[in-house]
Amino acid sequence: MTRYEAVTGLSPRPTTPRSSSTGMPVVAMIGGGQLARMTHQAAIALGQTLRVLSAGADEPAAQVSADVVLGHHDDLNALRTVATGSNVVTFDHEQVPTEHLEVLVAEGVNVQPPPSALIYAQDKLKMRRKLGELGIPIPKFAEVTWVGDVTAFGDAHGWPVVVKSIRGGYDGRGVWMPKDADEAESIVARQLDLGVALMVEEKVELRRELSAMVGRSPFGQGAAWPVVETVQRDGQCAVVIAPAGSLDDDVAIDAERMALGLAAELGVVGAMAVELFETVDGGILVNELAMRPHNSGHWSMDGCRTSQFEQHVRAVLDYPLGDTTPLAPVTVMANILGAPQAPTMTMDERLHHLFARMPDAKVHLYGKSEREARKIGHVNVLGAPNGQASDEAYVAAVREKAERAAHWMSHAEWTDGWDPHQ
Ligand code: ADP
Repeated sequence: MTRYEAVTGLSPRPTTPRSSSTGMPVVAMIGGGQLARMTHQAAIALGQTLRVLSAGADEPAAQVSADVVLGHHDDLNALRTVATGSNVVTFDHEQVPTEHLEVLVAEGVNVQPPPSALIYAQDKLKMRRKLGELGIPIPKFAEVTWVGDVTAFGDAHGWPVVVKSIRGGYDGRGVWMPKDADEAESIVARQLDLGVALMVEEKVELRRELSAMVGRSPFGQGAAWPVVETVQRDGQCAVVIAPAGSLDDDVAIDAERMALGLAAELGVVGAMAVELFETVDGGILVNELAMRPHNSGHWSMDGCRTSQFEQHVRAVLDYPLGDTTPLAPVTVMANILGAPQAPTMTMDERLHHLFARMPDAKVHLYGKSEREARKIGHVNVLGAPNGQASDEAYVAAVREKAERAAHWMSHAEWTDGWDPHQ
């Protein structure tokens, strides 16, 4: 399948604001986390300015950007300040109130993805309903407005169920997996009391989780990366294997097409991840959408001709998109997750040791302090060019190496007992 096609028939670039010193575009990103930090790296290479709206000067992107607006994504005036003089406003996270974005759009700000699309990444119930209307396979679900809704759903579709907050969850926060009806009812009662809007879903029997990532521009061009496997631990992504191993070609192509079609249907602009469940019987269901660079695309920074961060800025500025061809038969990304107790060895010294042992490991650190299970960086390892993605032993060796590197960076312990002094 051709994932990428050259664009013809471009119209002249509209006259839009430019950075006064370089004449190049200014991209404003809401949120100062690691995604904004890595988007900044891509923007630098393209001569652009990435301005960030960050809640604090010590956040990952605020540390490295010369153009920081300190303020909160809930504050309309802060959003207006960061938007002023920018070519486009885009996102590091989806927590921005939709009504504020609609005000910005009404005031003439170029918001990408537009709030009319972003809503499906912000509101899980709206997303489920829309995907259902579009005939896309999804888990069975229902809105929960009182305890009786969860009981009725479980009785009709089977226990156990998954309870989710409709808005604001991430990395497994806002997802509850009660073991039985009693526990489900008490979770629902407590969360509704706290004012959390809820929904319930069938608990899907998973073989594994996948992600289909695409980029789409306002011009209408789309580009897909290969479907990847996302390995989750404790409700958050730990490892990504690109491409997903032993995935039937037809299933992979269908998933890429579905993600491209969904991006077009919803009017998405920028990078989008479609998180997928592969069921035990080999079916594919959509779990959720993220309309921004995503953890399942970090492998592309080193493993692909065009990274998700470059594609995101190209897309939101309506440049032609980049080639998404992988650079190795397999690339494995392992997140560096904070250890229960931060090691006494400094991060700097851990990095020295890692580089000494694995000159080919590509390390990305986010400038975050260490806290248990916090995403503080990631490591990408590319498989040797003569390997095959279908060779399980080859893929397993690349995965083991990436996870060994990430574990070393988190814990200052080599999982294979290696001792550099012997
Ligand atoms: P978040 O917004 O926190 O990423 P998700 O809806 O993606 O929340 O859920 C987090 C994780 O919980 C998923 O990656 C998956 O492992 C598990 N999960 C979510 N929904 C279901 C479901 N309906 N059935 C089984 N597992 C689920």
